[in-house]
Amino acid sequence: MRQDQSFDATPSATVAIRRGAGLRLSTLVATALLLSACAGSGGASAPAESAGAATEAPAASGGAAAGGYPDRPIDFIVPFSAGGPTDTVTRLVADPMSKTLGQQIVVKNVEGAGGTLAAGEVAAATPDGYTVLMHHIGMSTAPTLYKDLPYKPLEDFKTIGLVTEVPMTIIGNNDFEPTTLQELVDYVKANKEDVTYANAGIGAASHLCGLLFQSAVDTKVTEVPYDGTGPALTDLVGGQVNFMCDQTTNTTGQITGGKVKAYAITSPERNPALPDVPTTTEAGLPDLKVNVWHGLYVPKDTPDEVVQALTDALKAALKEQSVIDKFAELGTTPVSEDQANPEAHTERLQSEIELWKPIIEEAGVTAP
Ligand code: ASP
Repeated sequence: MRQDQSFDATPSATVAIRRGAGLRLSTLVATALLLSACAGSGGASAPAESAGAATEAPAASGGAAAGGYPDRPIDFIVPFSAGGPTDTVTRLVADPMSKTLGQQIVVKNVEGAGGTLAAGEVAAATPDGYTVLMHHIGMSTAPTLYKDLPYKPLEDFKTIGLVTEVPMTIIGNNDFEPTTLQELVDYVKANKEDVTYANAGIGAASHLCGLLFQSAVDTKVTEVPYDGTGPALTDLVGGQVNFMCDQTTNTTGQITGGKVKAYAITSPERNPALPDVPTTTEAGLPDLKVNVWHGLYVPKDTPDEVVQALTDALKAALKEQSVIDKFAELGTTPVSEDQANPEAHTERLQSEIELWKPIIEEAGVTAP
């Protein structure tokens, strides 16, 4: 890890690692997209309270792998800002995992380049199980979006298991004129690049959803990239940007609290946490379907027994009632047990790389 970390002084603190501007895709106005085709596969709370500690110092409850792993705190790397959806999912599983493993887990936010900076750092980290990456669907889109990606998702990591699948919501600032998805489509077609769309950089789920939206309406808007959708959502509520598409784990509280307006949810069915929000199919954009899946990764030479210990801890975490309840509140569920393992995770990664490649290529989008 780079040394330019700013540590919170509290024990087991959140760590925000901010990169130099040169490393970030931080130009304010990003890629303008004029897309010709679209296809899709098949979730604001207030920016999540940035928990000072991902995990309490746990009572050692066993779970140590052969070789004594883990005998010191483990870093969980989040590739986006604190307070965003990836950060929220990570903290929710890190807490019970640390109890199973009998070690503290420290959540670190390594922001930039749509999540690829963090993935590159974890790929190059010491393969000892003390640096673990939480990433999402962006692991499968980055290889097509980035021509010089410094890692290969299928070759440079071992997978631990899938964690959760999260639908996305298309939301707008309360003062933004359109009130329904159809009105949004008409407004975007009429106002084109005068309309601003927030995302978390090229390779983020919010970027992918925006790409699908623009493709579906065959119109480009102005994309405004952030280091994560936590800060993007804050700006949306504040009126600095017009609309965005983000995971329910970030948007549910803001929607139900009336802080933003919701146009549609990108899942085939309505979500119990947001029963009044129509699906994209109901609202008129049936091709816009995205389900954001998350998984845990370690560098490729990590010993198998370490992978096993992490997988076992993940499985136990996903069965915890408190995790299930919190996920439900945020409009998502943990994956089923048969998905929380390296085999299912690798299979999903591979199939999603294949799924998104032609869609991204057809859209003609690449990272600079
Ligand atoms: N996961 C979000 C996205 O891909 C970013 C975030 O977690 O902040 O847009």
